[in-house]
Amino acid sequence: MGEKIPRVALIGIGLIGSSIARGVRHWGLADEIAVQSRRAETVATAERFGLGDRYTTRAAEAVDGADLVILSIPVGAYGAVAQEIAPALKPGAIVSDVGSVKVSAIRQVEPWLPDGVHFVPAHPVAGTEHSGPEAGFTELFIGRWCILTPHAEVDRTAVARMRALWEGLGAQVDEMPADHHDMVLAITSHVPHLIAYNIVGTAAHLEHVTQSEVMKFAAGGFRDFTRIAASDPTMWRDVFLHNREAVLEMLGRFTEDLTALQRAIRWGEGDMLFDLFTRTRAIRRGIIEAGQETEAPDFGRPHIVEPSLETGSPDGAERNPGP
Ligand code: NAP
Repeated sequence: MGEKIPRVALIGIGLIGSSIARGVRHWGLADEIAVQSRRAETVATAERFGLGDRYTTRAAEAVDGADLVILSIPVGAYGAVAQEIAPALKPGAIVSDVGSVKVSAIRQVEPWLPDGVHFVPAHPVAGTEHSGPEAGFTELFIGRWCILTPHAEVDRTAVARMRALWEGLGAQVDEMPADHHDMVLAITSHVPHLIAYNIVGTAAHLEHVTQSEVMKFAAGGFRDFTRIAASDPTMWRDVFLHNREAVLEMLGRFTEDLTALQRAIRWGEGDMLFDLFTRTRAIRRGIIEAGQETEAPDFGRPHIVEPSLETGSPDGAERNPGP
């Protein structure tokens, strides 16, 4: 573990922010945690869960004197929040985030930061379809990847501190350029979410199906899509608006491949279907071997145990790789 951080400010205390708060507290990674959320109601919930040492609805107040500031808010809100906190940032402070899109994060935040403040963008590839401070849990990041995307000229000590923090939260850390991150995540996370939103939307349009058969026969594959399509609408709207090029590029390739499958079905090309399904099965095995999924049968779905007020830790909570 790296050096303990004297004061960390968490801007946004939903699923991700509150999981960081719980982990930082549990593993003693900081002396003091300042918690901010824009609505008093969310701040009150965070306080009820004991997630911080100081609470406020004002972002500038939270970052005052902080050595590390982490934005855990929807990507579309970055510019306004960066502008608000910039004058209150301590010289030498590290600013980081957890956003699912990195090029846009840098574009929105960097111009506001004073000289001497280090921006180390981060994306923990971990999450669930739940939102808010009550949804977070200490173990969310254990064994998951956290990708850092700092510019080449960013101070390496600041990058090393962020690496140490995420390792302290149980994550494996990787580093890559922001544009590469956005391309990789477009195909591994953003397009899959779009497909889920689309297929559930299509079913919803078929009213006679949705009213009974969808609920009744959901286990036939549809159910997994409904879980993903239950993910936070604000966050996902922002992901698509802010990773437009990469998503459109991957969607183009996806559409071409889908058309090839459509053709194979039309012309009865069973070998083509069989070969693809065999290759995709091997990819699934690879993901299990890489420790990013388990082989456990999931038909009844492990039930989610909500975090308790005492521990904030749900045993057996279902996790997904997140956006
Ligand atoms: P969440 O549970 O919905 O929490 C969102 C937080 O952001 C709340 O504190 C909320 O404040 C605040 N917020 C919402 N709109 C805002 C605005 N316009 N201005 C300022 N603050 C605002 O969200 P989350 O799942 O933690 O996601 C936060 C970030 O993590 C996103 O950038 C997302 O891309 C990234 N991420 C999410 C996941 C995932 O699976 N969910 C995984 C990896 C990364 P109030 O409640 O006070 O309104």
